[in-house]
Amino acid sequence: MSEAQSADKVNTYNSTDIIQTDVLIIGAGLAGLSTALALPTSLNITVLSKAALEVCSSHYAQGGIAASLDKNDRVADHIADTLIAGAGLCEADNTSSILSAGQQAVQWLCEQGVPFTLIPKQERQQHDNANPLAALQTSNLHLTKEGGHGCRRVAHADDATGRHVMEALTVKVKAASNITVLPFHEALRLLTNSANPNKQCQGALVFDHFNQRKLTFHSRAVVLASGGLGQLFKRASAPNVCVGDGVMMAWQAGCRLANLEFIQFHPTGLALDDSSFLISEALRGEGGRLYCPQTGKRFMLEVDERAELAPRDIVARAIAEQINQNGLGYVNLDVSHLPAEFLREHFPQIYQTLFELGIDITKQPIPVAPTAHYSCGGVVTDANGVTDVVGLYAAGEVAYTGLHGANRLASNSLLECVVVGRNIA
Ligand SMILES: Cc1cc2nc3c(=O)[nH]c(=O)nc-3n(C[C@H](O)[C@H](O)[C@H](O)COP(=O)(O)OP(=O)(O)OC[C@H]3O[C@@H](n4cnc5c(N)ncnc54)[C@H](O)[C@@H]3O)c2cc1C
Repeated sequence: MSEAQSADKVNTYNSTDIIQTDVLIIGAGLAGLSTALALPTSLNITVLSKAALEVCSSHYAQGGIAASLDKNDRVADHIADTLIAGAGLCEADNTSSILSAGQQAVQWLCEQGVPFTLIPKQERQQHDNANPLAALQTSNLHLTKEGGHGCRRVAHADDATGRHVMEALTVKVKAASNITVLPFHEALRLLTNSANPNKQCQGALVFDHFNQRKLTFHSRAVVLASGGLGQLFKRASAPNVCVGDGVMMAWQAGCRLANLEFIQFHPTGLALDDSSFLISEALRGEGGRLYCPQTGKRFMLEVDERAELAPRDIVARAIAEQINQNGLGYVNLDVSHLPAEFLREHFPQIYQTLFELGIDITKQPIPVAPTAHYSCGGVVTDANGVTDVVGLYAAGEVAYTGLHGANRLASNSLLECVVVGRNIA
């Protein structure tokens, strides 16, 4: 269904209409669409998006999705790396449960048609020339290494993983006759039955920006998948829909919130004017180095033995300290020592975006600074997305499962969206 068709559907409602749906999903990012596609097709599902469908963090994600996929990797190692990055504040049971489902989650994305980057043909297992889909098995995916991970563990689709994932899932959602997607429909408040001693969520009050009117949705279940709150900060990587609506609505409905003080700052946002463009960690994973622009010193060597591949909080703090000292507002990320062809092939989006801004990354350093990136806390749920309010579920960045503790391990969030979204179903 096109956005225009979706809008047409809504245009037929009267302003006094109460709209019935089996499941109301607030948010059309990866958590929302994974939930919608995993729910039984016998259910009538409505998915709301506050703005256009592509305006969500999921669409912007570059690096990839972490899962223990390499034959030399173990889920236990992924869990150990996650617990270390989380600084002792992860919920161990939920962490183990979510990461153990990593391989199945990535396989599910393959089956939805996500064009993950593959290893070279000659290295692939069970490659069947007659059936290109046979190559889309997790053992054939190219994996990158990101900060805090002990090995290559991040499946990706070039350097625009989120866009490719969301395009594939959007095709599926639009083809599903039981799913209605309503862009520019903003949930304002959750409807709860306060007569019930165990509060029950029964729908939401929604503002239809197309027709400038309020609508009431009644549903058997509501799934909050409304993303994070990065845009509460001055420099943020997330789009402007991410202002914490879900956290606020869940709190008003009676849910517990946790760990909202733990905001992850990505070390390398592009430090040009008010740009929100992110320079993926994968660039450092492939050998990118950080230098002080004034002294030319590779400062991470003195900060941590993992240098540029230390966890994000350590790199972000080190860059912030350099910026405090140099007064320039940025440090340099340099990849010009890597082969130009490799950079253009593996990082086409970053290469092209920066080239258009006058920076040729094959020859010049990139000015970078920390940027608000991820909310580690949120609405308290278990690994199945169950909240404190009956009938209300939460998945993705709006939720707090405890997977991220005080600091998210890179690329664990896309995985959490898919795993918890599918668990809710
Ligand atoms: C630039 C960038 C790069 C990233 N790279 C990676 C990466 O490589 N790997 C990784 O694992 N993670 C990455 N992340 C984090 C990850 O992308 C997000 O945590 C994840 O995509 C969140 O998905 P979500 O479905 O919870 O929310 P989102 O994808 O942000 O979707 C939120 C949805 O909720 C809707 N919404 C919000 N409020 C309302 C409302 N009141 N009513 C109706 N709808 C509403 C929005 O319109 C949107 O549709 C990155 C984040 C950014 C910003």
